[in-house]
Amino acid sequence: MQWHYRCATCDTRYEIVPGRYLCDPCARGQQPDRPLEGILEVNWEVDPQGTAVPLPVEAEWFPAIPVGNTPLWAPERLRREFAAPGLWLKDDTCNPSGSFKDRASYLVAALALKHGVKEIVLASTGNAASSMAAVGAAAGLPVKVFLPAAAPVAKRIQVLQYGAELVSVDGTYDQAFDLSLEYSKKTGSLSRNTAYNPLTIEGKKTVAFEIDHDLLQAEAGACDHVFVPTGDGVILAGVYRGFENLLKLGRIARMPVVWACQAEGSSAIARALQDPFSASDPFGPPRPSKTVADSIAVDVPRNGSHALAKLKRYGGQAVVVSDSEILAAQRKLSAGAGLFAEPSSSAAFAGWLKVRDRLSSEENCVLLITGSGLKDIKAAATGLGLET
Ligand SMILES: *Cc1c(COP(=O)(O)O)cnc(C)c1O
Repeated sequence: MQWHYRCATCDTRYEIVPGRYLCDPCARGQQPDRPLEGILEVNWEVDPQGTAVPLPVEAEWFPAIPVGNTPLWAPERLRREFAAPGLWLKDDTCNPSGSFKDRASYLVAALALKHGVKEIVLASTGNAASSMAAVGAAAGLPVKVFLPAAAPVAKRIQVLQYGAELVSVDGTYDQAFDLSLEYSKKTGSLSRNTAYNPLTIEGKKTVAFEIDHDLLQAEAGACDHVFVPTGDGVILAGVYRGFENLLKLGRIARMPVVWACQAEGSSAIARALQDPFSASDPFGPPRPSKTVADSIAVDVPRNGSHALAKLKRYGGQAVVVSDSEILAAQRKLSAGAGLFAEPSSSAAFAGWLKVRDRLSSEENCVLLITGSGLKDIKAAATGLGLET
């Protein structure tokens, strides 16, 4: 099995090495303030054998920290209340740093260890930073993060607690993104910026393998719908990548419907899908994001073009929810199922609540619960009508 990067736009191949991020000719067409061009996907030449998730770094390089294999479970009370026997929660709050981001950090760390990388650097709205800091600590890899000063305090404390270096950016995530890229270009440190580093998409595909496996174990049949809280569109692309792998390996017969669940105040991918700015520029100029769901608040969705192409190719959907719908969904998921999720993840539940009438109640709907509610107590307190 020979692994390589392949440009999703022009098919050019590249070696999988730490300094390779985008496809050179395609990245040259990059417009300012638009999603990244020249996103690379990981590909293999000869189909892997066996049941393990095929990944481009050998198992021996992964650090000693238990990422992934999170529970997929049936919220019985919610199933009864909404007459939805096919409702499932994929609880990625159980990852070591409390978020789905650990899946990507884990693979990036494995590549870094394999190649003797000296430092990993990234920008983050909070969870990617706390995640890379945690996985970096397990791996013994120095981590430097550029974090907007407004990031929730729990995420900042996690970064420091895990021993990473924190650069507080007096600005938005988008500004932190650009600053961290400047730094990695200058120093040669490995960038874990989401979408930009192709392994951030690849690392997240493991969730699709787990969903497929666990539904089979439960004799529940195939996955019909996946609800994905979406900001930059990297989790969305990772979910697609995993199911694409499963299709290629002949383990599933069809692609599930993937739903991009976005907040009203940060809905660039939904707009590009449902109401494009123009045919040649579906995203148009960025709109400043404003939502209680910080993890899905982005002005420019970095993986927007790539995610949009996947949604179009496979008949994916988008659903947009308001902050009050998100906070109501957060309370409902906590009190109705016992799962306290952060606002971004609650947007997946809010999205499902919004469209469930259009779906057959027999279909398997998997909600990706991507981050723990304890990461942003202030938002949850607002939802409860408390002052903090
Ligand atoms: C990052 C994040 C998301 C959104 O992922 P994107 O790849 O930016 O679309 C959703 N939920 C949580 C908890 C996150 O940390």
